[in-house]
Amino acid sequence: MAAHVYLDWNATAPLRPEARAAMGAAADTVGNPSSVHAAGRAARHLVETARVQVAALVGADPRDVIFTSGGTEANVLALDPAIESEKGPAGRLLVSAIEHPSVRAGGRFLPHAREEIPATASGVVDLAALERRLAALAGEGIRPLVSVMLANNETGVIQPVSEVSRRVHASGGLVHVDAVQGCGRIQTDFKELGVDLLTVSSHKLGGPTGVGALVKRADVRLTPLITGGGQERNQRAGTENVPGIAGFGAAAEAARTNLSTEAPRMAALREELEAGIRRIAPDAVIFGADCDRLPNTTLFSVPGMKAETAVIAFDLEGIAVSSGAACSSGKVTPSHVLAAMGVPEALARGAIRVSLGYASTEQDISAFLAAWAKLAGALYRERGIAA
Ligand code: PLP
Repeated sequence: MAAHVYLDWNATAPLRPEARAAMGAAADTVGNPSSVHAAGRAARHLVETARVQVAALVGADPRDVIFTSGGTEANVLALDPAIESEKGPAGRLLVSAIEHPSVRAGGRFLPHAREEIPATASGVVDLAALERRLAALAGEGIRPLVSVMLANNETGVIQPVSEVSRRVHASGGLVHVDAVQGCGRIQTDFKELGVDLLTVSSHKLGGPTGVGALVKRADVRLTPLITGGGQERNQRAGTENVPGIAGFGAAAEAARTNLSTEAPRMAALREELEAGIRRIAPDAVIFGADCDRLPNTTLFSVPGMKAETAVIAFDLEGIAVSSGAACSSGKVTPSHVLAAMGVPEALARGAIRVSLGYASTEQDISAFLAAWAKLAGALYRERGIAA
């Protein structure tokens, strides 16, 4: 049965109506934004309007927004050892152990110049461990670039980014934040976070897939990943994806203006969801529950559950959720995030992520809980426990 209850917003969010309208209008606009004639200027206007909208979402200057093909490209562009700023290039990349694979892969830093900073059992970057590495690198005269996400895509746990920035800057380093999951779900302000670089992705906000942005401090220059024409102030060549960028801008604007109503609504639904999960399965573990989390994300497991089986069981009930485990080329490996938190592998293998969005409803939660009651009942029977 095709899923009709969509609870996998951290994977991708449905397109917002505002984004669909902006994309439709942009698709009908003929013109290359680099052309000087009226048609070109019309296309340029769409791109620049979107730049202002994306900048407003993160409290940045529009001139510091570089459009990319998504969060992954923005992350790889940011992780540049040849980064130029008033501070000079970076000799070492420090990333937290819970980062998205596009950050963990290290961008353009060679393997010997990369290090991982551990996370605590709650899923928060370990500030004491970071502090120790910063002190050691300062002693060796090595300038670090530190990349820490705003909120984790699996657990939703919000990271102490301003605290990281303060400490890294005090030691002469630079900071990148992957704000792909946090942006649009919690207040995100480039200057308040105190970072040098920030990644945002359109499709997590209700914009189209395949478009994102890297926001940077004005004095920061990066080596482009894609060279050619001088688009995006020589930081990213190629004719701009005008409909995608216009849709991204419209989604960013909607996410910004609706945040104060969408976030508490999601939080209330999430509370109902978690209370229900626990009522049905009292031994359910909700990861990161003792921390500040995004209002929309729940990652949970029950001893004995197998995530891949559970995801299929939910799908058969018409409910789209995801497993906390990474599945690539048919092989399921337990989540690196839960491994970094020290969660036993048997429990991590059962992790299910339920992620909500602005259009989620009470009915979605009820449908999920009804399916969960069935699934948990079967699980308890297997374990010889009455549900
Ligand atoms: N960073 C985080 C935290 C993510 O969750 C994702 C997508 O899942 C990305 C980066 C990659 O973004 P994109 O899909 O736009 O390449």
